[in-house]
Amino acid sequence: MKKEPRELKELIDKLERENRLSEDEFETLIRARTPELSAYLFEKARKVRERFYGKKVFIRGLIEFTNHCRNNCYYCGLRRENLGVERYRLSREEILERCSLGYSLGFRTFVLQGGEDPYFSDERLCEIVRGIKASFPDCAVTLSVGERDEESYRRLFEAGADRYLLRHETADEGHYGMLHPPTQSPAERKRCLRALKSIGYQVGCGFMVGSPYQTPRHLARDMVFVQELRPHMVGIGPFIPHHATPFAGEAAGSVELTLFMLALTRLTLPSVLLPATTALATLDPKGREKGLLSGANVVMPNLSPPAVRSKYLLYDNKASTGIESAEAVERLKEVISETGYTVVVDRGDFVPPTPDIEAGRAS
Ligand code: SAH
Ligand code: SF4
Repeated sequence: MKKEPRELKELIDKLERENRLSEDEFETLIRARTPELSAYLFEKARKVRERFYGKKVFIRGLIEFTNHCRNNCYYCGLRRENLGVERYRLSREEILERCSLGYSLGFRTFVLQGGEDPYFSDERLCEIVRGIKASFPDCAVTLSVGERDEESYRRLFEAGADRYLLRHETADEGHYGMLHPPTQSPAERKRCLRALKSIGYQVGCGFMVGSPYQTPRHLARDMVFVQELRPHMVGIGPFIPHHATPFAGEAAGSVELTLFMLALTRLTLPSVLLPATTALATLDPKGREKGLLSGANVVMPNLSPPAVRSKYLLYDNKASTGIESAEAVERLKEVISETGYTVVVDRGDFVPPTPDIEAGRAS
């Protein structure tokens, strides 16, 4: 049923008030969105993020420490069957060197991301995590290394890892099957996310916008999944094709819809840590700033050794130089300050919603 602009705004008001909508309501908003409705939503998203985090933007140093992957996700340039990739692994020493550089640049969170690489056994990975925590006790370590068993997640947590990013990619089972080979299951992914949360990690799920075969219904399901899981972080970026994958000929996702999804996420989880992703900055030179103005409050510059950056290509043209690069953090700060926000030297932990802050709603 077609809704009037006023009714759509009322749905956004309801989401702001109750932090919850039905799948149908999310779908209605996604389908019927207009520039005017988006402007209305973005303003609310900024207001909500400022209630919890003021004008602060948190930075995370992203260290892409292995591009070996045993998986074969159809969308990803690092998939096992892509034989055109020159594979690499960073040593513990190389990772610690990058943390050291990152620390001097003002980073207080290091994100270790990689393909699912069996070389990094629990023992090896725990040693790396312990090494970082021993050298930089005031820093948070985030892992993003895919699916592992619960015991492994527990060991890594005990070794000092604070946070874990594992995008659910799509909450719709049928759609998941169109993006992954049958060996990968959405139930397994969700099991991992729940295990991570119960162990005590700050957990991030997330999804791509505009991935092949995605419909507004799927995105609405993603929102309901986010609403139910209540993660601490949500990674949302546009799909971008990679030339050596089964999705080489598919269109990229839209920046405009990605911003809309970021803002809906901010109203659903008011104090969520929400990055303006590299994929967004890859599709639009102003993508990062637009993300921050739509409710995002985190940016993750690339802190990998420059020599490996061109080997960690999840998608084509991935930004890793210029202000995507951690070394250029001073320029990043200037660009961000033009949006009215300020990069801070801070671990940038999740702020749990409390009655006090919630009470700020009325003001
Ligand atoms: N192997 C780990 C971490 C690396 S991939 C994992 O899969 O969790 C990190 C994220 O990159 C994935 O979750 C996916 O959402 C995103 N990604 C992969 N290929 C992409 C593409 N072609 N376009 C946009 N994002 C992509
Ligand atoms: Fe491997 Fe992650 Fe790429 Fe899938 S998305 S192929 S798990 S690196």
